[in-house]
Amino acid sequence: MFGRLEDKDVLYDFIVIGGGATGIGVALEASARGYSVLLLEQSDFTKSTSSKSTKLVHGGVRYLAQGDVLLVREAVIERGRLNKNAPHLVKNQSFIIPTHGLWDEILYTVGLTFYDLLAGRYSLGRSKRISKGKTLERIPTINANKISAGVEYKDGQFDDSRLAINTLQTAVEMGAVVLNYAKVLDLLKDEAGQIIGVRFRNEENRAVYEVKGKQVVNATGVFADDVLMMDEPGANKTIAPSQGIHLMLDRSFLPGNDAIMIPKTDDGRVLFLVPWHDKVVVGTTDTPIKEASLEPVALEEEIEFILRTAKRYLNKEAKRSDVLSVFAGLRPLAAPKAEGKNTKEISRSHKIFTSKSGMLTMIGGKWTTYRKMGEDLVNKAEKRMGWKHVETKTKTLKIHGYKEDVDHRDPYYFYGSDKEAVEALAAEKGMDELLSEELQVMKAQVVWAVREEMARNVEDFLARRCRSQLLDARESMKIAPKVAEIMAEELGYDAEWIKEQVSAYEQVTKGYLLVD
Ligand SMILES: Cc1cc2nc3c(=O)[nH]c(=O)nc-3n(C[C@H](O)[C@H](O)[C@H](O)COP(=O)(O)OP(=O)(O)OC[C@H]3O[C@@H](n4cnc5c(N)ncnc54)[C@H](O)[C@@H]3O)c2cc1C
Repeated sequence: MFGRLEDKDVLYDFIVIGGGATGIGVALEASARGYSVLLLEQSDFTKSTSSKSTKLVHGGVRYLAQGDVLLVREAVIERGRLNKNAPHLVKNQSFIIPTHGLWDEILYTVGLTFYDLLAGRYSLGRSKRISKGKTLERIPTINANKISAGVEYKDGQFDDSRLAINTLQTAVEMGAVVLNYAKVLDLLKDEAGQIIGVRFRNEENRAVYEVKGKQVVNATGVFADDVLMMDEPGANKTIAPSQGIHLMLDRSFLPGNDAIMIPKTDDGRVLFLVPWHDKVVVGTTDTPIKEASLEPVALEEEIEFILRTAKRYLNKEAKRSDVLSVFAGLRPLAAPKAEGKNTKEISRSHKIFTSKSGMLTMIGGKWTTYRKMGEDLVNKAEKRMGWKHVETKTKTLKIHGYKEDVDHRDPYYFYGSDKEAVEALAAEKGMDELLSEELQVMKAQVVWAVREEMARNVEDFLARRCRSQLLDARESMKIAPKVAEIMAEELGYDAEWIKEQVSAYEQVTKGYLLVD
């Protein structure tokens, strides 16, 4: 990728700052329309919020309850498209809402039937009331004393970081240049104050580059203000981060195929318990946080809240020692007084701001709508630049790895159509060595991640190419030395690098462990 930058005279149509869901959606859309694209990510792709989601491809039942029908309609259509375009990563997941009395049963059955109807031909299946007996049969760990019956509905479930990698691969196949560990330091401007490019640093060797682009996009999520400050030092803060955490539990807490959705917790949010990669993700919270960081830390009260709420609904109590991993992500909520007069709201789900200098900043939205967000931003850029409008090409664009009917019980399902190539690599001498029985991680995957998926260090592999860090933080720390050795061999690094890597990985991953 750096080799492609050597041609100093390239003037990119789009330079996208930020390799999370938002930036990746823009890179996909722009390259599909035939524009030249450079995407720069300061850390690894999806290092921030985009690897810490609840893993749902959903319309947001909560927004429906708030009466935001258009927002839900947009999201359920995108849910259907993503399900069709990346079937190897998005799965149709049944959810059961435990009900407390007849009123609940009627309310949720009617509400969720409407939720289905909104999806039209993209519906994933009908919602229906199920009896108490059936609910207990399907969720044997649910507390029988707490429920009158259940209401079943369908939504999508996915692997966020894997979707990011596969989407980037799709964009690269269409000509995009995407770089991780490339931090934007500064914006380049012409005499009229218009942005004409960026200065960025290769975080591995500290080399600094200047690249030129016609449309610079700020897709840095909770860090958007830092880039806005580069544009206008002293600019008002636009973002107030809000944290959401998740706990990972063993499948014994939710042994069936159904997920649980608790529509009203003590703090008024919804709580999900969802089977994922043979574990259970439980979350989330909504806690205002002062400073954005790449590794936000779960607060004690958030952990206690999730354990307490889960305990109320399950007949098996999850204790701190049962938590395999805890991870936190940050929502970029609009700060009070952020809606200045020069800003324009495209929809309530995501917002695009145009700076005087011509930069487009997009914040908000969700993973589910990342394609549509990309479409809206590129439409906006075409208008602003006076380019001829090119129709979107992504509504039915198959994402790299596309494969129908994958078996989600297969520990390597997420490779989709790449699975055969990973298996071929595993057939080479020593490559099928199993590094973790528990997590089913093998040597060939590490090598594959380095060669084909731009994994640059141990954390990239263990946190985002396979999901070991989130699935079982302690077990992932055990295999870190072996992963470092394999990577060092592939990348030509020495024993010192291995040592540093293991120590860096342990340092970060300690934050994912719950200690008594
Ligand atoms: C707790 C939680 C649960 C969620 N669950 C779901 C869900 O289940 N389903 C769903 O659809 N959505 C979900 N969402 C929403 C979704 O995860 C987010 O909308 C999305 O991940 C935001 O992506 P982003 O690209 O805007 O931000 P980020 O993921 O934060 O990406 C921004 C990137 O910009 C990079 N960056 C910053 N500064 C620079 C710089 N100077 N140079 C280069 N790069 C830079 C950062 O390193 C970062 O990687 C959830 C959100 C939260 C917080």
